[in-house]
Amino acid sequence: MDEKRKILSRYFGYTEFRGAQEELIDAVLAGQDVLGIMPTGGGKSLCYQIPALMLPGLTLVISPLISLMQDQVLALKTAGIPAAYLNSTLSLEQQSLVFRNLRQGRYKILYAAPERLLGEGFLAMAREVPISLVAVDEAHCISQWGQDFRPSYLKIPEFLQSLPQRPVVCAYTATATPAVRRDIQKCLGLQNPLVKVTGFDRPNLRFEVRTPESKRGTLLTLLALRKDKSGIVYCSTRKEVDQVCSFLLDRGFAAARYHAGLPDEVRRQNQEDFLYDRKTVMVATNAFGMGIDKSNVSYVIHYNMPQSMESYYQEAGRAGRDGEPAECILLFGKRDIITAKFLIEKSYEESELPDEEREALKQRDMKRLWDMVDYCQTPGCLRQYILGYFGQYNTPKCGNCGNCAPPKKETPPPEPEEPDVLGTKDITKEAQMVLSCIKRINTALGHSSTITMTVLVLRGSKDKRLRENGLDKLSTYGLMNAYSREELREIIDQLVQRGYLNCGSSEILETTAAAGNVLFRGERVIVTMEQSALARRFPQSGTVTADSGLLAALKALRLKLAEKEKVPAFVIFSNATLEDMAKKQPKNMAEFRTVSGVGAVKGQRYGDLFLKELERHRK
Ligand code: ADP
Ligand code: MG
Ligand code: ZN
Repeated sequence: MDEKRKILSRYFGYTEFRGAQEELIDAVLAGQDVLGIMPTGGGKSLCYQIPALMLPGLTLVISPLISLMQDQVLALKTAGIPAAYLNSTLSLEQQSLVFRNLRQGRYKILYAAPERLLGEGFLAMAREVPISLVAVDEAHCISQWGQDFRPSYLKIPEFLQSLPQRPVVCAYTATATPAVRRDIQKCLGLQNPLVKVTGFDRPNLRFEVRTPESKRGTLLTLLALRKDKSGIVYCSTRKEVDQVCSFLLDRGFAAARYHAGLPDEVRRQNQEDFLYDRKTVMVATNAFGMGIDKSNVSYVIHYNMPQSMESYYQEAGRAGRDGEPAECILLFGKRDIITAKFLIEKSYEESELPDEEREALKQRDMKRLWDMVDYCQTPGCLRQYILGYFGQYNTPKCGNCGNCAPPKKETPPPEPEEPDVLGTKDITKEAQMVLSCIKRINTALGHSSTITMTVLVLRGSKDKRLRENGLDKLSTYGLMNAYSREELREIIDQLVQRGYLNCGSSEILETTAAAGNVLFRGERVIVTMEQSALARRFPQSGTVTADSGLLAALKALRLKLAEKEKVPAFVIFSNATLEDMAKKQPKNMAEFRTVSGVGAVKGQRYGDLFLKELERHRK
């Protein structure tokens, strides 16, 4: 097996390269510049991460977004690869630590924002530390014709020239239009690059356009049927984001919002809630997403039509990065056209371009808008339309879009007021969360928690009594904020009835010995659902959670680990990996390593725990 394949397996846990990955990697290793154009989720990162591990010295990755680099560095470290980033979130001490480690050759990969490059400290470091490869991620940011132009990207050539020796330069983007492609080559000064454009199709995405009478009603139905999944709802304006988010919160959805009008801190917190699966729906403007690598987004709903197919495909493409089936649904209304026109006009209001150029750009934007409207109204295959737009013609009808295969009529689950479903439901995961929370509170307080206190902690209440007792620092704080007070009381009630909890006078709660069976020994908690608060959450027992018991258990274990390590769940293993694990049911470490997405380090780190969980299920 050749070296790069070994690395692919050892660090990333995959057996095969995808698309043009191998060719691009080979070219870089042979010292050639490359330009890789692949759709979102196509696997661009590996194209520079693998050479980084094979080349001597450092690989510098230039990346536009802070959230992106933090996630990637976290993922690399978890896989056992020495990596770091430099951006404005680091304190001065932290920065000098990174610089020191760089000089000692401790990292293979450094992520940096383009604004950093020409800083004095950075330049000094770059002249001292041998840099073999510079990777420019989201390279379209250098193009003034693109949507995401960043002036600081224009500093990259100057930076490259200041280096004692020109490293190999590779550039990656998902934006395919020829104008942008030419711009990247020219502005970055790529030398005789290997240019690879790989197919833009994302077969696991199902596209659909609806023109509903009531967008709200439709959204509600769509979300109610996807409560156990994670997704994004895009709106065109901040105001609409605020309204839709409040509306969803009122209806009991675990929604968070994101737009440029929110304070940084709130934005960061909301984004984190979503990344860590504490909130399942993110309502956002297009300010949210570039660089969001969350892999288990299983739907992207556009509440408004975006201004271009470029934006649409990029935003919709944030669904299904783990390769699992995912949905991209656009809710179209005639008013969206008016809003989009208005936003285009507005975007040029403060432009200082000469009139002629401004008019030309505006015309270009209007043309893009009409192509977008056409997409919303075409009776033909939506995938064909998208691929054709990006220059890929003669593709067959897909059979998997809203026009090729119209959706079956979806009926929303019953309204909360009248739950009428009988049946059983596995609430093991909920039970584990509640029980571990009570244990933690009792340890933190040195005496027993009450029902009220437990509910407040689980819901992440801002009550000052929690803060005074440090309970807002517990890892279970806010863990179940997607649940209502009634639901949590109901779960606690069920746990008392089943003897996992003792409930004394004044609602004092203590875990019993039996609780350990649920927490550590795989005992499942099954409840019958009658006219209970929980029935609302699980309207039809058995049909809502598609996860088998085993998969649910693996996910629960992942959640526990993620919480412990304070990382988003997908950094530990992706859904695709857990599903492959549930399918292969490995019995030992060698078999465990054959699961897709399990590398050597993660295998060692998590293998025993997952193998134990698997064994428990075989019994
Ligand atoms: P991009 O930057 O092109 O949007 P990423 O590099 O973030 O895409 O990769 C998307 C997902 O695909 C990640 O979860 C990554 O681990 C996975 N992936 C990449 N290459 C492979 C491969 N050869 N086999 C299986 N999964 C892969
Ligand atoms: Mg990427
Ligand atoms: Zn189709």
